[in-house]
Parts: sequence; C-alpha cells; structure tokens
Amino acid sequence: MKTVKYGYSKNDIINVGRGFDIMPEKIYENFYHLFRNKIKTKYMIYQRKNFEINDIVYNNTEEQIVIFILTDALRPDHMSLYGYNRETTPYMKHYGFIPFNDMYACETSTTRSVPCLLTSMNRGENFLTYLEKPSIFTIFRKAGFYTAFISAQSSISTSDTGQTIIADDADYSFFNINFDVQYDTELLPYFDNILNNSNPNKLIAIQLNGSHWDYNTRFKLEDAEWKPLCENFALDCPVENLVNSYDNTILTTDTLVKNIVERVKDKNAVIYFSSDHGQFLGEGGLRLHAQGRMNFKEVGVVPFAVWYSDKAKKHVNINTIMNNKDKITTHDIIFHSITSCAGIESSIIDKKLSICSENLKEIPNEFINYISKKAE
Ligand SMILES: [Zn+2]
Repeated sequence: MKTVKYGYSKNDIINVGRGFDIMPEKIYENFYHLFRNKIKTKYMIYQRKNFEINDIVYNNTEEQIVIFILTDALRPDHMSLYGYNRETTPYMKHYGFIPFNDMYACETSTTRSVPCLLTSMNRGENFLTYLEKPSIFTIFRKAGFYTAFISAQSSISTSDTGQTIIADDADYSFFNINFDVQYDTELLPYFDNILNNSNPNKLIAIQLNGSHWDYNTRFKLEDAEWKPLCENFALDCPVENLVNSYDNTILTTDTLVKNIVERVKDKNAVIYFSSDHGQFLGEGGLRLHAQGRMNFKEVGVVPFAVWYSDKAKKHVNINTIMNNKDKITTHDIIFHSITSCAGIESSIIDKKLSICSENLKEIPNEFINYISKKAE
C-alpha cells in the first residue's frame, strides 16, 4: 500500500486538537491556531480520501450489518459481564455477549486512543501515525458498505481532533455539537436512520459518553440503582459515592446495547463493544483518567465483547472466537477483527490480529505482578 503523503511535517501537525485558550491576551494566538488547524485538518481529510488500497476482496452476497459500540472510560471489572458483583450489564449477559479478557488500551485518553483503535495503527507507534493509516471506514467503504460514525460526544475543542478526522472517512458522521443528545440512548433515532439506508451492507460505529465524568449526567437521576451518589466534583466525594455514580452510568450503556440488539437480532448482524480506556475510582488516591498512564491497570485495561446474531453465526466459527477470548490482546485487534470477520480480505488486514483466526497472536501480560492500590 502506498501511504498518504502530507504537505506538512508531522511536527507541524502536532497541534491538531489543540484547545481554545480563553485568556483575553491569547486572542490573536487563538485565532491564528484555529485558522491554521482548520486548513490543515481540511487538507488531511482530503488526503485521507486518496488511500491506494487496490486489493480489497468482498464476495458476500447476503445483507450484513456490522456495529461497533465504543463507550468511554469503562472498566471491565465494573461490568457484571466480567463478574462484577453488581448487575451493571444484565442485558449484555442475557444476550450472550462473549467477553474477551485482558485487552490493553492503545492509550489512556480519548483523543489518542480513538484514532488508534479505529485505524490500522499499532499501539506504541507515534500518536500521529494514525494520519497515514486507513480506518475501518476506509476499508468497509471500499468493500461497498455504507459507513457511519455517530457520536454522543461533541468535537472535543473548537479545533478538529483525531476522532473527527477519522469520522470523516465514513459516508456519514454526526457529532453532538449542539448537545441535542443528552443521554446516550438518545442516539437511537440516528441509528435507526442509518439502519434504513438502502445499502444492505452497513458499518455503523457508535461513540458514547458512557462512563466519562460527569457521571450523574449520564443517567436519569430517578433511575439511579445505587445510592448515595457523588454529589460534588469527582475529586471531593467519598469513594463509595463515586463508585455508585459510576456504576449507574453503565446501566445506560447496557440499555442502549439492548435496544440495538433488539433492532438487529433477526438480521445478519454482529456487534463489537469496547471502551477507549478505563478509569481510576480512587485507587491510590487517583480519580478520572489522563493520557500516558498505560502502566496502571485501572485505566489501561478495557472491555471487549462480541455478539453475533443467529444468521451471523453461520459465517464465523464461534469455537475459534471462544478459544481466543482468554488471550491477552490490545486495541490493535479491533481494526483487523472487524474487517476480517466480516469476510473482507486485503493485504492491509493482518489475520494474526483477528479474533476470527485460529492464529490470533497473544501478547505478554503487562500486569503480571500488578497489585491495585487501595482506594483512599
Ligand atoms: Zn475517553
């Protein structure tokens, strides 16, 4: 594959995603960066349309719906699907989602992790490598699918970020810029619109606010299952209340998953589920998350779970997937698994990184002697 060439050096584009400084004396600098970023981003998006990948093969004639649900800041050890003692994911358990153990995040912030996991970029490569790599949208579009990225998140700053650049690879993208979507479940009408698209083959990626702070705004307070809630800023309230609020957010995510399964369960459909990174819940005095903390299990390990409809089970070997679920993997397998399990073939797709391959490569345990610090 020929890689895309940019008119800017990597160092020059490092400021993409830079926030807007509200200090009045910075006003000229702000507008300068904003303008530069807008132009650079447009150029990058334009360049990304020109990936030369000419060996995509897709021969499946049956309708196929591929769904990727990407939540935010969700730790697997707070999901009952993974054995958590609170019933936070009753629907995912009910529908038989297959949980993969020990998936390591590409990075521990949204802006870095999301572009990495949506493209063929590998964990550990320079952050900006994603700009030169095709995304799942690039591949599925070339295979003839209708592709969409819908997000409950606003674009993170006034500038475009890696995830808005990648989202532009899709035929359709939506970000919650006007805050029309209050709860993640309000993405369902957008999902339904895409599901009605006339192309029988679809890739739909859904990005949630999920379990990102501010937890109490992620669910209707009257629906709170666990109380008392964290009523103050995340850094102030008792850990027990913090965890109650956090766990309630997962119920909203689980309800969204239920609604999506119900819409596609009679079709040839597959759902992949993951989070961009985890979250500190008071361990060692730490809360929330930040970039570059991959040596902390609380933020560095993410859930990854898959679900196949009865029709989809005819196209994949569930035994192979079950044999792979206990292997230690990273976000890197998402790009290769989603594409190859859908029946797409290309030299860009590495089968050793696919859950549908008997040869899924396992990586060493990075937390072999890890002892979680006690919550303060
Ligand atoms: Zn995030």
